[in-house]
Amino acid sequence: MSRCTKKSNLEVHHVRRDGGNDLTNAQVLCKDCHSATSTYGNPGKSPTQFTQDVKDKALKRAGNQCECTSVRGCH
Ligand SMILES: [Zn+2]
Ligand SMILES: [Zn+2]
Repeated sequence: MSRCTKKSNLEVHHVRRDGGNDLTNAQVLCKDCHSATSTYGNPGKSPTQFTQDVKDKALKRAGNQCECTSVRGCH
């Protein structure tokens, strides 16, 4: 498993749509990896935005780097 090395165009992804808005449900992903997630851009109920505080903490936890470790070839 290799982690994506992108450090730009970072977005905070909801790991589970119904998983709430705290840090445990946040994953920092670059634009490419984010758009490759199965739930990205799906119509229907979209989760409420993370607060800026949670986004800041998630980015700090991730070291301002994409946290994607997917092997689907998105990075
Ligand atoms: Zn990425
Ligand atoms: Zn990826």
